Amino acid sequence: MTVAIVVLNQRSVSLARQVAQGCADGVIYGLDRRTTGVDVSFSEFGPTLRSLFEQGTPIIGICAAGILIRSLAPLLGNKAQDPPVVAIAEDGSTVVPLLGGLQGVNDLARQIAQILQVSAAITASGEIRFGTTLLSPPPGYRLLNDPDQAKGFIAELLAGAMVRFETHPSPSQEGITHPSPSQEGITHPSPSQEGRLPEWLQQSCLPWSNEGALRLVVATEISPDIRPGHRCLVYEKLPQRGHLAIVGTGPGSAQWMSPQVQRTLLEATDWVGYKTYLNLVESLRSPSIQRHESDNRVEGDRARQALDLAATGRRVVLVSSGDPGIFAMAAAVFEVLETRKNPDWQEVEIEVCPGISAMQAAAAQVGAPLGHDFVVMSLSDILKPWSVIESRLQAAAQGDFAIALYNPVSKQRIWQLDQAREILLQWRSPATPVVLACNLGRTGQQVRVKPLAELTAGDADMRTVILIGSSQTRQVQSGEGRPWVYTPRTYDG
Ligand code: SAH
Repeated sequence: MTVAIVVLNQRSVSLARQVAQGCADGVIYGLDRRTTGVDVSFSEFGPTLRSLFEQGTPIIGICAAGILIRSLAPLLGNKAQDPPVVAIAEDGSTVVPLLGGLQGVNDLARQIAQILQVSAAITASGEIRFGTTLLSPPPGYRLLNDPDQAKGFIAELLAGAMVRFETHPSPSQEGITHPSPSQEGITHPSPSQEGRLPEWLQQSCLPWSNEGALRLVVATEISPDIRPGHRCLVYEKLPQRGHLAIVGTGPGSAQWMSPQVQRTLLEATDWVGYKTYLNLVESLRSPSIQRHESDNRVEGDRARQALDLAATGRRVVLVSSGDPGIFAMAAAVFEVLETRKNPDWQEVEIEVCPGISAMQAAAAQVGAPLGHDFVVMSLSDILKPWSVIESRLQAAAQGDFAIALYNPVSKQRIWQLDQAREILLQWRSPATPVVLACNLGRTGQQVRVKPLAELTAGDADMRTVILIGSSQTRQVQSGEGRPWVYTPRTYDG
C-alpha cells in the first residue's frame, strides 16, 4: 500500500527520500511553493492531508506533530479506521507515532526509526508492557473481537490478569497448548510449545499461564464453538498466499545489490538457487531462512522447485546473479508456468526484482563502451542452435552495434568464441577494442582490453563477459593517465 511522505520544505526532501527507501511504496508529497524534485506537488496542506487520511493512506509527516493533529482533528471519530500517522522531526532525530494504533502505526514508526537510527517514541501502554499490539496483529492474522471486547481484554491484562494460549482446533489429546508456569507464575512459552505459538506472540512478553483468566486463541478453522469475548481474544489465521520473488543480486558483492533485493532476501522464508549464487549472499542469511541449493543445471527444475515451495504458502526468493531477466531464472519461471499449468501455482504471487547485469558492471569498469546502440547475446548453443547464433552475430556486426557476449566459453564449449571472432572480423576492424571482464565484483576480478584480432577462446571462461566495440568505439585517457573505452552517442553514419 502507498505511504504518503509529506514535506513542507526543500530541506526535508532528502530525509523523505531516505525514509521512502525503507517503505515499499513511499510517495513523497511536497508543498509546491517550497519544494522541487518530489513525486507529487500539492498547494493546500490541510485538504491534501485530510483527503489522504480519508482514503486510508498511511501518512508520514516531516513536520511538527501539532500541525498534523490540528489538520486531521475534524476527521478523528473512529479509532478503528484511522490509518497510521507518524510525525518525524525535521532533523530526523525523533519519530512519533500519532494515530492508527490499530493499523500498525507503531510498527511503521519503528521501521522508520531503524532507517534513521533513532528510537521511536512509542507511547501505547499495552505495547510497551507486552511487546506486541494485540489489537493489530501482523499480516496473516485477523482479530475477530469487536473493539469494545478487545479494549476490555487489554484493560484486564494491564490490571494484572494472566493469559492462557490455545489453538483451534486444539491439537489431538496432547493438551500441550499452554505454556508452562515459571517460578514467579509468569511464563514464557517453553521450547516444545514455541513451534505452536506464532512468531509474533513468541516475541511478545505476555504473562502466559496455564491457569490464566484470559484466553488467547489462534484459530485455523472458524467454528461456532469459538466465541470471542471480553476475556477471550480470537485470531483467525488466514490462509497464506505463497510469494515467489525472482531477484538479481548483481554480479558480485553487496555494493551492487539493490536495496529492494536486499530487503526481499531478508524477508524471505526460503532461498532457492544455484549454489554459487546462494554463496554470494550467504552473509545476509539469518538462521530462520532455509537455503535450498541446487546443483541442477536444468533451470526448469529449479523454477518448479521454487513454485512448489511458494505454493505451500512460503515466501520464496529465487536467486539469480546479475539481472534475473537476462539469461537467468525469470524467463525460466514464466516458461514453466506457461507449459506446466499446475493449479497449485495459481495462487502464488510473483515478483521480479531487477539487478545490475554483468555487462553494466563491465562497462562501468572501463568507461562507457555501451554508450550507444548495442546488442546482447549469449554465445551458448545449449538452448539454441549455433546456426541462429551465427546469423545473429552477423546481423549485429553488419548493423554496427556494440555487442555484449554472455556465456562466451565453458569447459564443453571452446570453439564458439573463435568462430564468433571470425564472423565479426568480416565487418569490423581488427583493432576494434574488446573488453574482457572476469569475476566482476568478486574475488579475482580482472578487466582487460585487447584488439578484436587478438581475441581467443583462452581469454575467457564461464565467469567472463565480453564487450565488443562498434566502429565508433575508441580509447581515451583521463587526466591521471587512466585508459578508458567509450562509444560516443553521436553517430556520423
Ligand atoms: N543474469 C546474469 C547473466 C547470467 S548468464 C546477469 O545479468 O549478469 C552467465 C554469464 O553471465 C556468464 O557466463 C558471464 O558471461 C556473465 N557473468 C555473470 N556474472 C559475472 C561476473 N561477476 N563477472 C563477469 N561475467 C559475469
